[in-house]
Amino acid sequence: FLGAKHAALIWSRQRHHIHGKCGCRLRLQGKVALITGGASGIGEATAKLFTRYGAKVIIADFQDDRGQAVCKELGSTTISYVHCDVTKESDVKNAVDFAVSKHGKLDIMFNNAGITPPLLYTSIFDSEKSHFEKVFDVNVYGAFLGAKHAARVMVPAKSGSIIFTASVAAVIGLEAPPAYTCSKHAVVGLSNHMCMELGKDGIRVNCISPFLVQTPMIDGALGSAVDKNKAAEWLATAANLKGVTLKAHHIAEAAAFLGSDESKYVSGLNLVVDGGYSKVNPL
Ligand code: NAD
Repeated sequence: FLGAKHAALIWSRQRHHIHGKCGCRLRLQGKVALITGGASGIGEATAKLFTRYGAKVIIADFQDDRGQAVCKELGSTTISYVHCDVTKESDVKNAVDFAVSKHGKLDIMFNNAGITPPLLYTSIFDSEKSHFEKVFDVNVYGAFLGAKHAARVMVPAKSGSIIFTASVAAVIGLEAPPAYTCSKHAVVGLSNHMCMELGKDGIRVNCISPFLVQTPMIDGALGSAVDKNKAAEWLATAANLKGVTLKAHHIAEAAAFLGSDESKYVSGLNLVVDGGYSKVNPL
């Protein structure tokens, strides 16, 4: 308590204590990482950060132009792109096999591809079965396929880190579309199951639950919100941690931690990256 109190007293007088630059240590050197949904938003930021941290990265996405553009932008020989629709098992299997044939192994599988219905559908009365089917196909079935095929190559290697992008919508009550909320609860459940099943094989399985990050997915969802003022207010509350706006690269740093050997004994965690929002606004 005394340590925290006196540190807080000093930091509260320094405006920028929580900023700090991202380190450039090669904390992922020698690792091979496959990132679904790596062509945009959180996945793109993660692909870039992992490359900077020394990993060999494969972006798996179905936005071919965007994915290839990210690789070109980095201009690195250690990042490549593979077409993959995560709802198709043959594509996911091919992406994992591509990683292994290119780099000889797979160390990190980041099951990150995801979609949401527009925020127009935050009531169950506006929700349709088709919303659930579409969202579950990507967020749950896609994550399951990614994890399953990653495990297929990680189990014989007796090593690996599987990471899912869940959401703070799986931690507290949020006015998100029910289909999205349910899908992210399912992702946490899948992560917990796989943590339990694969620990004996030396594989760690964790989730990251971000709060609102401005990405094309969120822009699309907010763009069609009925109550734009409410949506804007909701976005503003994301800045619970004053002086910091949650950005995709903050989520990427969490993924780097879970993918690196720094978290060697961390499994079954849902790492909530929300600036404390879920503690300030609990269910
Ligand atoms: P984004 O739209 O910027 O990126 C999502 C990526 O997934 C895109 O590149 C898209 O092409 C890809 N994708 C979608 N369907 C796919 C499919 N069938 N096959 C392959 N790729 C597919 O969105 P984002 O915000 O970066 O979302 C990334 C993850 O983070 C998602 O799982 C999302 O639910 C989760 N998330 C986002 C937020 C946020 O506020 N942005 C908050 C919590 C969780």
